Amino acid sequence: MKSQDIRQKFLDFFESKQHTIVPSAPMVLKDDPTLMFVNSGMAPFKEYFLGNGQPKSNRLADSQKCLRVSGKHNDLEEVGYDTYHHTLFEMLGNWSFGDYFKKEAIAWAWELLTEVYGIDKDILYVTVFEGDNEDGTKLDQEAYDIWKQYISEDRILMGNKKDNFWEMGDQGPCGPCSEIHVDIRSAEEKAKVDGKSLVNEDHPQVVEIWNLVFMQYNRKADGSLEVLPSKHIDTGMGFERLCMVLQDVQSNYDTDVFTPLIREIETITDTDYGKDNQKDVAIRVISDHVRAVAFSIADGQLPSNNGAGYVIRRILRRAVRYGFTFLDKKEPFIYRLVDVLTKQMSKAFPELKAQKQLIENVIKEEEASFLRTLDQGLILLDSIIETSSSKEVSGAKVFELKDTYGFPEDLTDLILREKGYSYNKKEFKLKLEEQQARGKQASALQSDDWTVLIEDEEQEFIGYDALEANVKIVRYRKV
Ligand code: ATP
Ligand code: MG
Ligand code: MG
Ligand code: MG
Repeated sequence: MKSQDIRQKFLDFFESKQHTIVPSAPMVLKDDPTLMFVNSGMAPFKEYFLGNGQPKSNRLADSQKCLRVSGKHNDLEEVGYDTYHHTLFEMLGNWSFGDYFKKEAIAWAWELLTEVYGIDKDILYVTVFEGDNEDGTKLDQEAYDIWKQYISEDRILMGNKKDNFWEMGDQGPCGPCSEIHVDIRSAEEKAKVDGKSLVNEDHPQVVEIWNLVFMQYNRKADGSLEVLPSKHIDTGMGFERLCMVLQDVQSNYDTDVFTPLIREIETITDTDYGKDNQKDVAIRVISDHVRAVAFSIADGQLPSNNGAGYVIRRILRRAVRYGFTFLDKKEPFIYRLVDVLTKQMSKAFPELKAQKQLIENVIKEEEASFLRTLDQGLILLDSIIETSSSKEVSGAKVFELKDTYGFPEDLTDLILREKGYSYNKKEFKLKLEEQQARGKQASALQSDDWTVLIEDEEQEFIGYDALEANVKIVRYRKV
């Protein structure tokens, strides 16, 4: 089954269960001080769960673009090294706002996976919150009793608070969750080690695919729990992981979500994926990062020197450096992947096609400008390592690399770690603070990289009028 069809089947299924299908919200958040990017399917609906406003239907479903590169969920360091964490990924979700609860959420998840998608139930495990009496949370017996109607009890595992209890923050709506995990190892491997012992243990073929959150409590300021008058369902399934299972491959990167990009990287860089471990990591990193950067630009966030824009710049520079060091690409090439990406994804995400030219131009320019200093920066970093008297190099020197050569701190950290080194973080921070203090004095006027001319909720984003230096002008059209 092609990834396009897998996504569509999810939406069709929940539509048949009276859900309203909504498009993905933009990934870049402008007015949430607690979050820079949407990092889960529920983020755009947060206010509804808090009781502010009403969704257009009390049953919704969608495929939400998520980015996990900062804050509470930061998977950046895993990306490329493992085969199932991405920076940008799609989270398929269905929601009930005070409507259906555990019985339906579990029944439908099971029906979709085993009947619609035809997944063999013998590769599935489910987890149930086992409770922690100190803070009033209890075993989720209700979920356990529902699950055992579908799956044998030896495949229902008990989970702790870290994996099986979801909270929005210190206060507010929260509740237990049940996760669905798959074990796609060979029969031979399964005979050697019981799958149960590998759930939640970072095994690349025993992975979590779907999280069903049952919001049934409100956490009060004193830490105690009260039962919510109306209960909600919030689910999130990793689309690329689901594709891995349904396409019968062992890695997200072997699904048709990634193979067109990987083939293109192989052609451009004259390498073969699957032959050399270090090159494979680089190819995975680049195919992942180009998606994150392209989708962010399409959503209106350009690379820049601060805030969300700097996160995007760091991701792109990370990709450039992997190409430079491990695939020997000394000139811009990542922008050339945008064409393949657009062809493949724009049916589901038309914003990519609408912004294609801008995305290519921005990525190409960013690549070119970083490549101009990357070579010299790497030479300098080598000399820092050579002249360092300990395995911890100077924080001031790492700061100089950032300041002069545009090496983001995490990139330098990554390169140092590859060589068995670290750097003095305290010293780095001090230098950064000194510079920021100087900057504040020098200019009272700070210009951001967002310039929105007119905007309200009833408008549709249609593009950029101009792109100049760090200023971008966004037009909106009434819909
Ligand atoms: P994991 O334990 O694998 O890191 P998670 O528990 O952090 O996942 P949730 O917050 O429960 O993930 O998100 C719901 C679903 O989104 C997960 O079950 C998984 O399928 C998917 N998912 C989470 N993080 C990523 C990621 N970085 N890349 C791709 N898919 C992801
Ligand atoms: Mg995680
Ligand atoms: Mg998990
Ligand atoms: Mg989870």
